[in-house]
Amino acid sequence: MIPMSHRHGAHDRAAQIAEAEKRCAAAGESLTPLRRRVLELLLDQHGPAKAYDLLPLLDAEKTAKPPTIYRALDFLVRLGLAHRIESLNAFVACGVGACARSTIFLICEKCGGAEEFDAGHALVDLTDAASKDGFAIHRTMIEASGLCSTCQA
Ligand SMILES: [Zn+2]
Ligand SMILES: [Zn+2]
Repeated sequence: MIPMSHRHGAHDRAAQIAEAEKRCAAAGESLTPLRRRVLELLLDQHGPAKAYDLLPLLDAEKTAKPPTIYRALDFLVRLGLAHRIESLNAFVACGVGACARSTIFLICEKCGGAEEFDAGHALVDLTDAASKDGFAIHRTMIEASGLCSTCQA
């Protein structure tokens, strides 16, 4: 996988784990060792990862079963700590830092990188327009595909 333009260093990772723990506590949930490990694995990836790619990294002894990792991933997605990219059937750690709101992923067709674009403001118009139509949007997830700046060069 080609490195992304915005890579997180070790310090960012520690801060993200600390933030994740706070987010879990606030939601009355706990970041169990397994959930934490799965989040760490996602943070270590330089692009979207499939559950089956994470499984061998999670568990060298091969005791973890796919449902275990899916449950952990579902938990992380529910708390906004990770996102599921439908078009790739893959998961990525939240690049903005625990956003349970509107997100746009810019997915590169060439290198497979997925960059999270903090789209809170860009999507306000959409939310307003939908509310005028009588629909209350809670969450918007847009997957835009194209070429990243590295692959255009
Ligand atoms: Zn996010
Ligand atoms: Zn690219």
